[in-house]
Amino acid sequence: MMIPVRCFTCGNVVGEHWEEFKARTEENGEDPAAVLDDLGITRHCCRRMLVSHTDLVDVVAPYQ
Ligand SMILES: [Zn+2]
Repeated sequence: MMIPVRCFTCGNVVGEHWEEFKARTEENGEDPAAVLDDLGITRHCCRRMLVSHTDLVDVVAPYQ
C-alpha cells in the first residue's frame, strides 16, 4: 500500500522521505543504509518503515 506518513512506533514523520529513498536506492543503486543516514533517519524503528515497505497501491487500487 502507500507508505505510512508516520513511524508506527515513535510517530516521527517518515512518509516525506519515501520518494527520494526509492529513487536513490532503486534508480541510482545507492546503499539504503547510507541514504537513510543522509536523510537523517537514525532510529531503527523509523528505518524499518522505509526498508520494509512494498508499494502495492497501484496493484490493489483497481479492486477497491
Ligand atoms: Zn520511529
